[in-house]
Amino acid sequence: MSYDHDNIFAKILREEIPCNKHDECDHTLAFFDITPQAQTHILVIPKGAYVDMADFSANASAEEQVAFIKAIGRAARLAGLDEGGYRIISNTGRDSHQEVPHLHMHILGGEPIGPLRAR
Ligand code: 5GP
Repeated sequence: MSYDHDNIFAKILREEIPCNKHDECDHTLAFFDITPQAQTHILVIPKGAYVDMADFSANASAEEQVAFIKAIGRAARLAGLDEGGYRIISNTGRDSHQEVPHLHMHILGGEPIGPLRAR
């Protein structure tokens, strides 16, 4: 899948639409999800144009990949989630139900998150 420069997170990165910013570094932005699925629901995205984890893990530089992992841990820590714990999820590809085609890691916490899948 090629990258769509008009996706909503690309617009947030270009500051064409606002977000509730949580944290930022040279390579990443963290902000609160507009429709939270838990008491704390943060999205961490790379600033580079990557569709999903498959694209990012294959094509991002080592510096970008390290920065992304560190940003996820930092965002959770800054939100006070380390003690209670949290879940990270990144939907990738056809079967995952990914809605926004710019790589993002969901961080869910602040309350018990429940089983990985409801069956
Ligand atoms: P996905 O289903 O692609 O893994 O998750 C996309 C997430 O982006 C959803 O949780 C959705 O609520 C969030 N989202 C969609 N549009 C916006 C927006 O304009 N601002 C923010 N902050 N989050 C958004």
